[in-house]
Amino acid sequence: MATTRRQAATLRKKPPRALATERACTCGFLERAAAEPDIPIAFEPLVDEYDIRHIGDQPGGHSIIRYCPWCGGAAPKSKRDTLFATITRAEAERLQDLARRSRLSSKDNQPGTIVSFRTLQYTNLSATADVDFIDFGPERGVHMSMMTKYVGPRGK
Ligand SMILES: [Zn+2]
Repeated sequence: MATTRRQAATLRKKPPRALATERACTCGFLERAAAEPDIPIAFEPLVDEYDIRHIGDQPGGHSIIRYCPWCGGAAPKSKRDTLFATITRAEAERLQDLARRSRLSSKDNQPGTIVSFRTLQYTNLSATADVDFIDFGPERGVHMSMMTKYVGPRGK
């Protein structure tokens, strides 16, 4: 059966958020599949996620399963966010102010086709953020970026 152009366009679109079900999976497919060593579905208890393990030329990755492929019910709600600290607005403003006051400057102002920027990463400036200061040189100045700090368990 041929697919019309209109049907193909509909199939490519993601379903609207309103159609995504909040109803939890009740058939147990994901749990059973994760228990089978021959099926590349696994459960990661640290984050409460089921995933499909990538195999082949580039093993090691995974794709998170949000919905049960059997009944369409929602997979458990991920706890991945609990592994990272929350940067409060006050902390972000404090770090941005620190970046504005920094006096980093580059003495390497030579023109060229390949440009590298000095990046200083600080992991102890904040309890909730790791901070990168990127020195773009005298004209563009120093920019700062923040990443939420990982607070989950270490080592495995
Ligand atoms: Zn299910």
